[in-house]
Amino acid sequence: MKSPIQSYLESLHAELSSLRSGEVASYIPELTKADPDWFGICVVTVDGVAYTAGDTAQRFTIQSVSKPFVYATALADKGRDFVGRRVGVEPSGDAFNSISLHPRTGAPLNPMINAGAIASAGMAAGTTAEQQWERIADSLGVFMGRPITLDEAVYRSESDTGFRNRAIAWMLKNFGIIDGDPMAVLENYFRQCSVLVDCRDLAYMAATLANGGVHPLTGRRALPAPDVERVLSVMATCGMYDYAGSWLYEVGLPAKSGVGGGIIAVLPGRFGIAICSPPLDEKGNSVRGIEVCKRLSRDFGLHLFNKA
Ligand code: GLU
Repeated sequence: MKSPIQSYLESLHAELSSLRSGEVASYIPELTKADPDWFGICVVTVDGVAYTAGDTAQRFTIQSVSKPFVYATALADKGRDFVGRRVGVEPSGDAFNSISLHPRTGAPLNPMINAGAIASAGMAAGTTAEQQWERIADSLGVFMGRPITLDEAVYRSESDTGFRNRAIAWMLKNFGIIDGDPMAVLENYFRQCSVLVDCRDLAYMAATLANGGVHPLTGRRALPAPDVERVLSVMATCGMYDYAGSWLYEVGLPAKSGVGGGIIAVLPGRFGIAICSPPLDEKGNSVRGIEVCKRLSRDFGLHLFNKA
């Protein structure tokens, strides 16, 4: 017999499929190839059970959903104090590609905007950019529960058109936030954004955070337990671009979205949620993704501040 949660997800998926607003991201040429009809929802419990509805095996690029996981990698490799000196934890209220740096130290305000994410990529363990990429790729793979692959065309497209990110990387170099060659660190950031995922992968990554940092199926630890609350905290306050405050108010879960149309949300100790649907609203969040999370939060009382 079908579980009630499975039936719920299928009817929510059917209902929200008719939602047709939003635009597929076009500022990276290759991203325009995403099909606006792709729509998948996946919920993975901390026991590793997956509930899926729709296109949950369709691959797309992870984009900014990689940011919390690479920040986690930096924390694991360099420790809270070192990372804290180079990337803050304050919401910026600005767009993802804003050059939001602390006026005196040059530290990006948080790791969920590009500046903070590029700085985080530069703090992965390794003495060369190649070694750092190996470390990032391996870490993302542990979160996902399988080795990662890249969408090479998206990676090239990002790298060919990422002038603003180049400016940000040079600013970070100027302030001593990046050691070594900032362009090599930036290429690693472009690579991490180009990692191919499906909705299920993202839900397992979210479930790994929900499960205290241990992948529910492989049993491998993806990050030290004390870092989980740090990562979830910045996701809660900064994860949804300049919609982060409204998101916390309305949905009340740590989350991260990306311009590929992915969103993850985490209910600590319980489950991870992922949605894939490429059409984005004006803030860069998946329109259907936001709606799915609002509905789940409301229908199941998931808001973290409503647990009396
Ligand atoms: N690769 C994208 C960029 O840096 C990531 C954007 C996003 O998903 O927010 O422009």
